[in-house]
Amino acid sequence: MSIRSEFFRETGARKSASVLREGSRQSHLFAARVFGRRQIEQSLPKKQASNWLAAMESKGKIEKEYLDLFSDALKEWALRFGATHFTHWFQPLTGLGAEKHDSFLSRRGDGMLESLSGRELLQGEPDASSFPNGGLRCTYQARGYTVWDPTTPPFLWNSAEGLTLCIPSLFYSWKGDALDYKIPLLRSDQKIEEAALRLLKLSKVAAGSVFSTLGPEQEYFAIDKSFFEAREDLVLSGRTVYGARPPKGQELEDHYFASLNERTLAFMREFEEEALLLAIPVKTRHNEVAPSQHEVAPLFERASLAADRNLILMEIMRKVAARHNLACLFHEKPFAGLNGSGKHCNWSLATDTGLNLLDPKEDSFAFFTLLTAILRAVHEHSLLLRCSIASASNDHRLGGSEAPPTILSVYLGAALEECVEKIIHGNEAKQTRRAIDLGLKHILQPDPDAGDRNRTSFFAFTGNKFEFRAVGASQHTAWPICVINSIVADSLHLILDEVEDELSKLLDKSDLFAAALPVLRKHLKAAQPVLFSGDNYSSAWEEEAKKRNLPNVKKSFHAYAVLRDPKTERVLQGVLTRDELESRFEIFVERYAKTIGIECNLMIDLYRTSLLPAALRWQKEWARSVELLNNLGIDSSSQKEKLRDFSSLVDRSLAALDALASLKKQIEGLGPEAAASAYCNIALPKMEAARAAVDALEGWIDRKLWPLPKTNQMLFLK
Ligand code: ADP
Ligand code: MG
Repeated sequence: MSIRSEFFRETGARKSASVLREGSRQSHLFAARVFGRRQIEQSLPKKQASNWLAAMESKGKIEKEYLDLFSDALKEWALRFGATHFTHWFQPLTGLGAEKHDSFLSRRGDGMLESLSGRELLQGEPDASSFPNGGLRCTYQARGYTVWDPTTPPFLWNSAEGLTLCIPSLFYSWKGDALDYKIPLLRSDQKIEEAALRLLKLSKVAAGSVFSTLGPEQEYFAIDKSFFEAREDLVLSGRTVYGARPPKGQELEDHYFASLNERTLAFMREFEEEALLLAIPVKTRHNEVAPSQHEVAPLFERASLAADRNLILMEIMRKVAARHNLACLFHEKPFAGLNGSGKHCNWSLATDTGLNLLDPKEDSFAFFTLLTAILRAVHEHSLLLRCSIASASNDHRLGGSEAPPTILSVYLGAALEECVEKIIHGNEAKQTRRAIDLGLKHILQPDPDAGDRNRTSFFAFTGNKFEFRAVGASQHTAWPICVINSIVADSLHLILDEVEDELSKLLDKSDLFAAALPVLRKHLKAAQPVLFSGDNYSSAWEEEAKKRNLPNVKKSFHAYAVLRDPKTERVLQGVLTRDELESRFEIFVERYAKTIGIECNLMIDLYRTSLLPAALRWQKEWARSVELLNNLGIDSSSQKEKLRDFSSLVDRSLAALDALASLKKQIEGLGPEAAASAYCNIALPKMEAARAAVDALEGWIDRKLWPLPKTNQMLFLK
């Protein structure tokens, strides 16, 4: 029997169910299932349409008296597509989207009619007290509300051949506490807008509004579904808790940007088309470093929209993958020894007039003041930034020579670093252009970039935006973006206070830069330790960071404590209240403990009921063979010796798993915080030891007897 047929049900590549015909264009698909600007303008009177559009851009509030008109237009549009149900789509702190469907049906006399009232559009009441709420809502206080969030346009979700109208919503408790990721993100956008408008006003740059922008680069693995289903650990925890190193991994560096195989490409094309229909501007696709690992990146947009759409995109990818008999994995580290997956969050600030505030070509006072605020914010609140990307799963990836380590650093690139140096040493900053000559007479060369890239940095400037590279692939992007917005807004206000103070001392107020120079110099000097352009993956950097007094919180459990720090409460004022922060502390800590707890359960269960029996069967077979040789009078001493080694490997695994099981039992009696601490400090090393023992067994057992698909089978067969 071939190894392949053990688990691999030949499902074959499915042809892409592309809806594009020859001559039609992708751009025509874009937003076809979204109730956006065009639909609003076409289906509503001018006055009402402008009210909705203003709310969509966070420039105004929906008028109560228009609600019935809005809900009716929305329902009529959805019915035209054949939608049957509607739902308030919201984002509880599970990190996933949530929905409860209601049909449009309501009684009219003896019959039924489709309707959606203004009240139904505005508010829902998810009758569920079982979402994570971290003490903000007890089970007996079940009331939670969803309220329509017009900043993301409603869309039609296609599943099981039926359409559901999704109304993006915010989720809050009976007392008004934020129970989701979206409310704090929107609040942080208000906070950064206020600070940035203050900066622009001072710089005499005209703008009506400012918002943060986000372009999330989503990494993922796509493997055959039959392998996935045969791996209970992947199904239940998202990662393989066992698995010996494959004979070939990523060492040849032959997967990154390699040509896409047909099966994967068919999957990509189909999910991209579904994404386009829902206005998700997917743009880039390529193979990543590890085998079967890929990336999809949409064009950036308003951060609150991009955060919602990233969640929707992940859902589309999971769904479409199943149609192609694939499983799409978003875990940060599905396979030990191979690169894990991140979600680089590209962040900047934009104005409604089309300016990018991080474009160095724009007003240089505004640019350098903002840059200083960012560097100060990252330096001052590095623990909070570390916390914003903390999870049990991301810990497997951070610092593993594939993702930034847990030390916060900023890369600016040579050109900008030079500017910073100049400011610190008293000169006005001007960027100089580099020249590159390839020595080829007939090749037109583009203008060179001012700065190189640093792919090892935690937070890197990439020409006109920052790339937050430490964010994990499965993470909701709203939380890290919310933190960046908030800490930068705080620093910006502080710096502007000081700049205005300096200005007030000057008679000639025209040279803003000159007035700001001492302030910028002071803050840049203080933040300088966070600047690092070298290799973040090297151990030398860890040493250097220690000398610079930069914190290095290796395990996420220890990163959550900052949520209880009064400094955090102050910097997140207007974004998260004390109670909301405490609830997040409890939720994150509990999730951390539960995640590792589930992995422990899996390790114990898989070992006892599947892997140990396989090892014993193999041991028995081997022992019989040795015995047979013995009976025949053939010297079997070296085989017997090896069998003895194998048998001690079995003993080692038994001891390691027993130790883990008894520790697990003890932890079960603890409260969430003590449990998380025990999992972090005691269980994780024991799990590593157990895994090493079992992986060593796998390396000796007949592959036909091994009950789990092997890493190389999963990653190289498609
Ligand atoms: P990389 O070379 O880093 O892999 P990609 O092209 O994969 O870059 O992704 C870069 C991402 O950054 C895209 O989503 C892009 O739209 C986004 N981006 C570009 N400019 C901005 C900006 N001003 N604000 C936020 N994101 C941006
Ligand atoms: Mg990319």
